[in-house]
Amino acid sequence: MSFFIREDPLTDDRCIIASVRKKRPQIFREVVEEEPFQCPFCPGNEALTPSELFAIRDGKSWIVRVIPNKFSAIPNMHDVVVDSPFHTDDLDAIEHFDKVLETYKERMIHYYNSDSVRYVSVFRNRGKTAGASIPHPHSQVLALPFYPKRYIREKEKYERENKNIMEELIKKELDLQERVLSVSRHFCVLMAYAPSTPYEVWIVPKEKISSFIYEENFSELAGLLKETVSLLKAYLGESLPYNLTLQSAPPWDRDYHYYIRIMPRISVFGGFELETENIIVSVAPEEAAAELRTVKYTMRTET
Ligand SMILES: [Zn+2]
Repeated sequence: MSFFIREDPLTDDRCIIASVRKKRPQIFREVVEEEPFQCPFCPGNEALTPSELFAIRDGKSWIVRVIPNKFSAIPNMHDVVVDSPFHTDDLDAIEHFDKVLETYKERMIHYYNSDSVRYVSVFRNRGKTAGASIPHPHSQVLALPFYPKRYIREKEKYERENKNIMEELIKKELDLQERVLSVSRHFCVLMAYAPSTPYEVWIVPKEKISSFIYEENFSELAGLLKETVSLLKAYLGESLPYNLTLQSAPPWDRDYHYYIRIMPRISVFGGFELETENIIVSVAPEEAAAELRTVKYTMRTET
């Protein structure tokens, strides 16, 4: 058993890593109930949703469609992005995921044009355990009139240290190679140093880009996201629930380095996490990286 305490390099939040097992985690199987309802996100059922705000089409049919969230947290400020016309596709199966990323950028620009908006949150929940109420693949864009907690903590650290903390982290990680999953021309894929969930992965642009609205390498990024999600699913189970979040600064903050988090939801938070706001994680990120690299190698040799 290994036990250690780590600080998130971006927030200084402490997490406890208590790794007890030496073997592969149980494959996660989510119980999927039969769906008696008509899916409002499937093509043909457009009339069941509020009117379309934005869409990307291939010929006559849409491939990405944005509609207002019917159960909006904040009225008129909350979108649903239907990622694909295909009901059962997850991210790794969506061929045009680069167009989904372009849509995120488009909607962020739209909301940041409004004076009352301070921060635009973009996230994607997959599976009931991760908070998805409809199984059809979709993401959400939510504009906030305030700065969220994590961003505030990160900014405090950026200001205190007076340097690009993320750049330093990437350099360290690439030197060490202990938590690196893959590296492409513009991005690197790392296991989070002080994760919020077991197997949390970060995808980070190598050069500083403060906000996702300045990102342009969508097909390269979509390729890495698909590869990472399919790797996690190959190891942890095809029905793996997870959250994907975009940690991005507003356009007026250029002293930030945006990144994407993928957080598998194979464990639940209990009283300890709620009491202390510190998280206990059962798999060390280095072990997770080693396990996933082995799977990647096997997947490569099989194809
Ligand atoms: Zn559907």
